[in-house]
Amino acid sequence: NDNQTALIMIFGATGDLAKRKLFPSLYKLFEKDKLSKNFAVIGVARRPLTNDEFQQSIKESVKTAIEKEDRIDEFASHFYYHSHDVTDSASYAALKNMASDLDNHYQLNGNRIFYLAMAPEFFGSIALHLKSDGLTDVRGFKRLVIEKPFGHDLESAKELNDQIRTAFSEDEIYRIDHYLGKEMVQNIEVIRFANAIFEPLWNSRFISNIQVTSSEILGVEERGRYYENSGALRDMVQNHLLQMVALLAMEPPIRLNTEEIRSEKVKVLRALRPIEGEEVNKYFVRGQYDEGTINGKTVPSYRQEPMVAENSNTETFVAGKLLIDNFRWAGVPFYIRTGKRMAAKSTKIVIQFKDVPMNLYYQTEQPLNPNLLVIHIQPEEGVTIHLNAKKAGTGMEATPIKLNYANKGIDGINTPEAYEKLLYDCMRGDATNFTHWDEVALSWSFTDKISDVWENHVDESFPNYKSGTMGPKCSDELLEKDGYFWWPVT
Ligand code: NAD
Repeated sequence: NDNQTALIMIFGATGDLAKRKLFPSLYKLFEKDKLSKNFAVIGVARRPLTNDEFQQSIKESVKTAIEKEDRIDEFASHFYYHSHDVTDSASYAALKNMASDLDNHYQLNGNRIFYLAMAPEFFGSIALHLKSDGLTDVRGFKRLVIEKPFGHDLESAKELNDQIRTAFSEDEIYRIDHYLGKEMVQNIEVIRFANAIFEPLWNSRFISNIQVTSSEILGVEERGRYYENSGALRDMVQNHLLQMVALLAMEPPIRLNTEEIRSEKVKVLRALRPIEGEEVNKYFVRGQYDEGTINGKTVPSYRQEPMVAENSNTETFVAGKLLIDNFRWAGVPFYIRTGKRMAAKSTKIVIQFKDVPMNLYYQTEQPLNPNLLVIHIQPEEGVTIHLNAKKAGTGMEATPIKLNYANKGIDGINTPEAYEKLLYDCMRGDATNFTHWDEVALSWSFTDKISDVWENHVDESFPNYKSGTMGPKCSDELLEKDGYFWWPVT
């Protein structure tokens, strides 16, 4: 398959992402023969390294991530290194020569993938240089893979997009949202559209509310400088959470191809009711973590973390109520929440169905449980359906039961697989699981209205949740107002 022949240029090849995710994922593709023998990788980063040293670091990164690595020497021999300051024009000429040599040597047909795995402030200027210094003048395909964050708000995202569009057309741009590479996120679509029992119920008549949670135990770690300028809304809601909502809410596409799926997702984002001005604090709440105990250890508050202001107004938690104003979803709240230093690491979707019209089983002390469909995205992967069934015994009492499907055990190897799939898709030219500019723009215009309010009003309650809990009280109150509560994620 010709498309899998390519030169992959990784900018930021000594960075954390490259080591932890990209190299191990490429190795897995190589091992499964999903990568053509005709491939070469140029690692680009600032630090001076010889090819040997670079290949050594590739081997180490693969060995750290994967136990089996029989073909590691052969794999690593395809890697080359170029020490390069991305702001220095002269250096692009050398990079260009190296690329054409490898193109000839490995018969790569002029196919090139440029992967930007480095700080976003460089994205625009790298793209401009790739064009002006001739690296994108190729016989084959050229593709740009770009990491998050894609801009800081709509305006900066537009500016970045204009820069990269001078060198790449929209269909050559692969904007990574690694959630879209996760097995169970991709499964949302299959569960909905390959089963007769869900789609007929998938609307406001039968669904009472949908809850999307993505919680982390980790705090901000070493990323204080970045996070202070970002916060949970930009870091998680604008991309990952809105993408999951779009997949849950979209209409069945007429075909499972990139264009059709994207256009359905875009329609959901267009139907998202804008929340602005005074409405913001009614529909969205924010939190910032205080000290607390996690796994028996005391952890510091956000404001005590390195590179964080001692009076920081940055949110490390967001919960919100989204409304999708279309025929299918009118009136159904989509509750989303995400945060750091929470009680569990968990990404989960709960679809809560409406109650049966009349409860015939009130002799039990409790009211009937509603039916739930739970999609477990990480760390465990699977699907659970909550039903009511007869309680064993002489009476006619109902009791909740669960039908459980576990995709596999607790992960650890889950995340590299997202990158493995996304890299493979990119090699084949399948952009379905990457975000289109229209989605990026609509998502920013939604979250910008919230940031506008939050950035101009200091939240006096910060820090407002203890580390190791499920967030601030206002998050629970957001659902209580509507008569709901967050279904536990653990
Ligand atoms: P990092 O700081 O670990 O690595 C940065 C890389 O860029 C290094 O290889 C460094 O040498 C190179 N670099 C920096 N300045 C340079 C210059 N002037 N010229 C040439 N090279 C230069 O960063 P990271 O954690 O690997 O993240 C990279 C990108 O991926 C970022 O956009 C980040 O937001 C995104 N991302 C990272 C992760 C992750 O797990 N680390 C997850 C999702 C997204």
